[in-house]
Amino acid sequence: MERFSQAKKYILPGLLLLLLLSIALPAAARPLVVDASLLNVRSGPGTSYEVIGQIPRGTVVVAAGASGAWAKVILPDGKAGWVSTTYTKAYDPPRYAIVEVDLLNVRSGPGTNYGIVNQLSRSTAIAVLQEQNSWLRVILPGGGQGWIAGWYTAAAECKGYVAVAATLLNLRSGPGTGHAIISQMPQGEAVAVLARQSGWLKVARLNGEMGWASETYTRRLENLAGEPQPQPDPQPKPAPASPLKGKTIVIDAGHGGYDPGAIGITGYFEKSLNLAVSLELAPLLRDAGARVLMTRWSDWCPSLWERVNLANSNGADAFVSIHGNAHPQPYISGTETYYYPWGAHSGRSRILAELLQRQLVAALGLRDIGVKTANFYVISNTWMPSALVELGFLSNYGDEALLRRAETHRHVARALMGGLESFFSK
Ligand SMILES: [Zn+2]
Repeated sequence: MERFSQAKKYILPGLLLLLLLSIALPAAARPLVVDASLLNVRSGPGTSYEVIGQIPRGTVVVAAGASGAWAKVILPDGKAGWVSTTYTKAYDPPRYAIVEVDLLNVRSGPGTNYGIVNQLSRSTAIAVLQEQNSWLRVILPGGGQGWIAGWYTAAAECKGYVAVAATLLNLRSGPGTGHAIISQMPQGEAVAVLARQSGWLKVARLNGEMGWASETYTRRLENLAGEPQPQPDPQPKPAPASPLKGKTIVIDAGHGGYDPGAIGITGYFEKSLNLAVSLELAPLLRDAGARVLMTRWSDWCPSLWERVNLANSNGADAFVSIHGNAHPQPYISGTETYYYPWGAHSGRSRILAELLQRQLVAALGLRDIGVKTANFYVISNTWMPSALVELGFLSNYGDEALLRRAETHRHVARALMGGLESFFSK
């Protein structure tokens, strides 16, 4: 393929190469990265059309059409909208560097005499724009640029780009469904392919996450322009008997991004636990026929209002917020669930909390602290039955060790699923 042979010539200055790549790709097939703090998405190509959404800086979207200075893009929820290309940049770096040390400094220039502007963690895969004396100029998660020491990285050639064709595609730590889920990629997200192996693609996201995705649920960007929109069906057909069928359920993975939540006694972040469980829970509920909305599916921090608004504005039938606990006394251990006792749905919320708590205690085997009431924002401002689960205490060695495990995340997800099924069958 044309772009593959060009990608090998990365000795060319990066900017010139990017220019060549821009010419080689049909305009309509291009991934774009948002270059404004919040970019309005409109229903048509012009500022007179209504704003139907906003996408944050650094998000990669696929341009599926163009009209003047406006691009038709596929949004993370799979819908199409229009954005002004004034506030986007082309996204097709030719080469990737994979971080091979625990923490790698990002500097403002190519040398240790330049200031540190960021740090990257091990296994981050990051797009390389330019090389100079073994220093690499890279695209940072979020869209900025910086320099890293190339000798702490492994080079990975970009074999091309694919877009996510499923509603949400799991990014896993290895090539197979037995590997842990790192995150989920929304429909339309463009990712760089670093390797292929028996139906699985090793991919890099713009946020630096690297992992494996099933090739079946992706499509080649090079073919995008002339192709009909894909009709993916990544999940098995819903079981007709499930009480969850047709229910709208909001899963709220607590904290995220700059807000790690509780930090475990050996350093496990609560935000990682909350997300891992949420990513396991979502496909279970979808398989049962529920409409699942997630307040986040990767490592960022929506505001409390955004979390609540997602549920309220979509007429959700239930809202479940997932958290891990912490206590100054490290011997404190156990599971507890909260509901808000003064709202219109407090009776149903209490039932939901009790059912979730019962299932969680059975699945985790930790001390049953019970169901409690609280005035937490996300449960007191949601207009439907809601509960906030605290799975265990990350400040406790035993709880943290248990809650770190991918197997536990699956058990917890099945427990929450069971609680929701019981709730909707009553
Ligand atoms: Zn929390």
